[in-house]
Amino acid sequence: MAVLSHPLVRDGWFHETNSQWPGQAMSLRVRRILHTEKSKFQDVLIFESTDYGNVLVLDGVIQVTERDEFSYQEMIAHLPLASHPNPERVLVIGGGDGGVLREVVKHDSVKEAVLCDIDEAVPRLSKTYLPKLAAGLTHPKSTVHIGDGFAYLQQPENKGAFDVIITDSSDPVGPAEALFQPPFFKLLKEALKPGGHISTQGECQWIHLPLIRELRQSTKALFPVAEYAYTTIPTYPSGQIGFVVCSLDAERDVRHPLRDVPDCNYYNARTHVASFVLPEFARRVVEDG
Ligand code: SAM
Repeated sequence: MAVLSHPLVRDGWFHETNSQWPGQAMSLRVRRILHTEKSKFQDVLIFESTDYGNVLVLDGVIQVTERDEFSYQEMIAHLPLASHPNPERVLVIGGGDGGVLREVVKHDSVKEAVLCDIDEAVPRLSKTYLPKLAAGLTHPKSTVHIGDGFAYLQQPENKGAFDVIITDSSDPVGPAEALFQPPFFKLLKEALKPGGHISTQGECQWIHLPLIRELRQSTKALFPVAEYAYTTIPTYPSGQIGFVVCSLDAERDVRHPLRDVPDCNYYNARTHVASFVLPEFARRVVEDG
C-alpha cells in the first residue's frame, strides 16, 4: 500500500497553523496517515496520532480527536437539551462525524434526531475511522441529510419544527462562514417550536472575543435568553471552545439542568452550571459589551 503524505505533516508531526489563531500552533505527533482527499467542499486529512487516537482535520483545522472529543460533544449537546423540559425533535447542523448525535440520542425524551452536514465525506469517513462517534449516525432515532444547513433551514417544512437545534460547525471560513451571521440565527429561531433552544459552536475566549461579542449581540437581539458557556479541550486552539445557548422562552434558565444525563465523561450537573461562569476578562466583554 502506498505511504500517504500531506503537506501539513512534516517530520512525523501534524502542525495546525492558521490565520484564525495568529502566532500559535497546535502540533500532534503522527503514527500514520490514514486518509487524504479533496472533497467537494474541503481538504480532508485523517491520521492516527501517537497520543490522541485518530484525528479528523478539515482544511488544516483539527475537528475531532478520539481522546478529547467527548468534552465538546457532551457540552454542546447537553447544555441545551438538559435545560429544556421535553426535547423531542432535535436538529444538528454540521456534526457529520456523528459525535453530537451520539449524545443527543441519550435523552429518553428525544424521539427523532436529524443531522444536516454539507459534506458527505465526513459521515462516510467517520464510519471507517471514528466508529465511536459515527455510532450516532446509525442510531435508530437518527436521520442523516446531506446539504447546506442554511438552505435546509429555509425549507418551509422545517419552520417551527424542532425543540432543539445544535450547530456543530467548523470555523467561520469556508463552508461554515454563513453559520456565524445574523441571517442564520434568524433562520434558527424560525425553525424552533415554541420554547425551543439552540446551541452553537462559539469559538474561544482567548482568541475570538470580538466575534463572541458579535454572536452574543446578534443572538440577544433575537432570543429573550442568550448565554455563553465554554468547555476545556486540549486540541482546540488555546484549549478551550465556547457555545452560545439560547431559549425562546424568557422564563427558561438554560444555566441549570432539569435532569441528569447518563453515561457522560465531562458533562454533569455541576459542569453544566460552571460552564456559564466566565473569567473576568471575557465576562466584561461578553456580558457587559
Ligand atoms: N467540533 C468541530 C469543531 O468545532 O472544530 C466541528 C466538527 S464537525 C466535523 C463540522 C462540520 O460542519 C463538518 O463536517 C462540515 O462539513 C460541516 N459544515 C460546514 N459548513 C456547513 C454548512 N454550511 N452546512 C452544514 N454543515 C456544514
